[in-house]
Amino acid sequence: MDLIQMQNLVNHIFSRLGIKTSLVFVKPTNSTIAAAAGIKLNEVVSIFGLSPPAVGGFVYVNIKFLNKFFTDSEIYFILAHECSHIFHNHLVNKFFWNMLETTLKGEKNENYELVEIIKFGFVLLGKNHLPPNAENLREQEYESDKTAVQITGDLNSSISCLSKLSNNDQNLPSHTWELFNNQVPAMSMKQRIEALRTSMNFV
Ligand SMILES: [Zn+2]
Repeated sequence: MDLIQMQNLVNHIFSRLGIKTSLVFVKPTNSTIAAAAGIKLNEVVSIFGLSPPAVGGFVYVNIKFLNKFFTDSEIYFILAHECSHIFHNHLVNKFFWNMLETTLKGEKNENYELVEIIKFGFVLLGKNHLPPNAENLREQEYESDKTAVQITGDLNSSISCLSKLSNNDQNLPSHTWELFNNQVPAMSMKQRIEALRTSMNFV
């Protein structure tokens, strides 16, 4: 699948999501497999003469890598997953948690240890043993997986795709968060696949 086909799919995905104006552009990258950066606007775009709801931003794709290891159906899932991050405005949430953590740690990082200890407190006591920022990360991934499958209608390709992303070892972490400069899993790929099956009522 080439860049133009991917762009067409992204346009199609947003129209399926009921987006009237899509200014999301597919850009090639070599630094990651796929990523998204963008926002959804429900109202204010009308002042610019664009029809709301509208989305704007970028979906970054490693075209060579994707075509080498993934089927077209799996690439469709990956694109739908990245578009869902934009559709659900996940970046705004992520930005909020990053800002909060940076602010709490202080201008000179003087509260670094205190904040990390509080985060560790959530590991011991919190929901799913995660601090709110990691919980948020995990929920965002689950939500994007679910929306993506609702678009593609192809649960099997999404599961084979997620397995490949974890190098066929589903016990490996899907995403991580940082605690005292260590990367801690937010969820394993196995948990992510199970959450997706459950959300699609396919247990
Ligand atoms: Zn994601």
